[in-house]
Amino acid sequence: MEITCSAKELFVFKKIAHAAADLGLESYVVGGFVRDKLLGRLTKDADIVCVGDGIALANAVAQRFSPAPSVAFYKNFGTAALKIEEFDVEFVGARKESYRYHSRNPEVEPGTLEEDQLRRDFTINAMAVSLNEQNYGVLIDPFKGRKDLENKIIRTPLEPGQTFSDDPLRMLRAIRFASQLGFSIEESTWKGICMHVERIRIISQERITEELNKILQSTQPSIGLDLLYKSGLLHIIFPQLVDLAGAEYIDGKGHKDNFYHTLQVVDNIAVHTNDLWLRWAALLHDIGKPATKKFEPGHGWTFHGHEVVGGRMVPRIFAKLKLPQNEKMRYVRKLVELHLRPISLTKENITDSAIRRLLFDAGDEIEDLMLLCSADITSKNKFKVKKYLSNFALVKQRLQEVEENDRIRNWQPPISGELIMEIFGLAPGRIVGDIKNAIREAILDGEIPNSYEAAYTLMVEKAKEYNLQPKQ
Ligand code: ATP
Repeated sequence: MEITCSAKELFVFKKIAHAAADLGLESYVVGGFVRDKLLGRLTKDADIVCVGDGIALANAVAQRFSPAPSVAFYKNFGTAALKIEEFDVEFVGARKESYRYHSRNPEVEPGTLEEDQLRRDFTINAMAVSLNEQNYGVLIDPFKGRKDLENKIIRTPLEPGQTFSDDPLRMLRAIRFASQLGFSIEESTWKGICMHVERIRIISQERITEELNKILQSTQPSIGLDLLYKSGLLHIIFPQLVDLAGAEYIDGKGHKDNFYHTLQVVDNIAVHTNDLWLRWAALLHDIGKPATKKFEPGHGWTFHGHEVVGGRMVPRIFAKLKLPQNEKMRYVRKLVELHLRPISLTKENITDSAIRRLLFDAGDEIEDLMLLCSADITSKNKFKVKKYLSNFALVKQRLQEVEENDRIRNWQPPISGELIMEIFGLAPGRIVGDIKNAIREAILDGEIPNSYEAAYTLMVEKAKEYNLQPKQ
């Protein structure tokens, strides 16, 4: 084998080779599996192309295992899949494709291996390894994909313009692979992308977002995000990010380029976490800046309230991108809204009550928030960065101390809204909320201890303002 496989993979490939030989079919391992093996990356699934009926081959392979794994069919595409001990193998008949202008779904007809390789998006994805007796294990690489892998280059096998116009999703795939693998996009391939950005409009939002998520999950997401920006694709698929780009100058005073700052923050956080949603929070942390930007004479540029405006933008952006409208979205919104809080604490004398408030507002997200905040320190001024980071370490230490003493994280005030309603015979409404908030604020500010008795006394006092007496 010209690729290095595990014993299990080799065992499965042998079974496929024998089943294909019995059916008189040629079969090959193709695409991402071959690419990733040559790169030494982890692989989890393999695509098998056979010249003939892929479904018949999948069934014949399944019969060679005991117990036989069940075969899943994707009828429309003549594709079948098997799972053999966590190894996913997909079978498809070799095909030839032709495209119509308004769809990325081609007309498909049976073809040869060469035709099948020709329809693939990039040279590095068009390599095949033979499973046939006469040349078992030999790499079939008609477009010099192996050389492109060595030189870290993304290139289309066919004329790039045609490739991207046929299926514009490939533009995002090119940028995603560049970001995931740290490759560069070959010049004419890049030009092909830049010329066809408008074609991205025929791609479904789900597909676009899938690629965007993969870019965000790569080791250095700024590579992909910057390529999206430079190609013009980002202007179409995510204009709010483009609005962050550039710096304006008035009276010789400018502000930083918030797009490149954001990219730096995403890269910084990517060093510490693979969590997709924390990376989304980094990408969106300053998204409210363009809408809040002001020049104040004598003072300079301000972005007052950008965290609140940004937080409000999160649900709309998630809806447009068809990202989940659930606790993931609320998590991202919360981090965007709170992203200035720990930093603002480093600028003043830190009181226990400020720390308690931060713990209370952030709850379980406090560690993620602190990660986001340290990723947000991107100043070029080394002295400033050092000062911020050491103040920041102090905030971290105080957070730990206050949490150990007061257990504020996930804390609930000792008197609930239900209890207030019961004690005063009230229906739900503003008064209940006011009394409840007064208790919470007094405890967080350290004005009263965190105990039922102290809270009860304050509640009775506060209720007098509304002429209320406890019922019993
Ligand atoms: P990953 O698993 O990281 O998404 P992959 O290359 O394995 O990468 P798949 O989407 O599983 O991606 O595709 C498998 C193979 O099918 C690719 O390697 C490529 O040869 C081919 N392919 C996938 N999508 C396209 C496309 N839009 N145009 C042309 N060929 C494609």
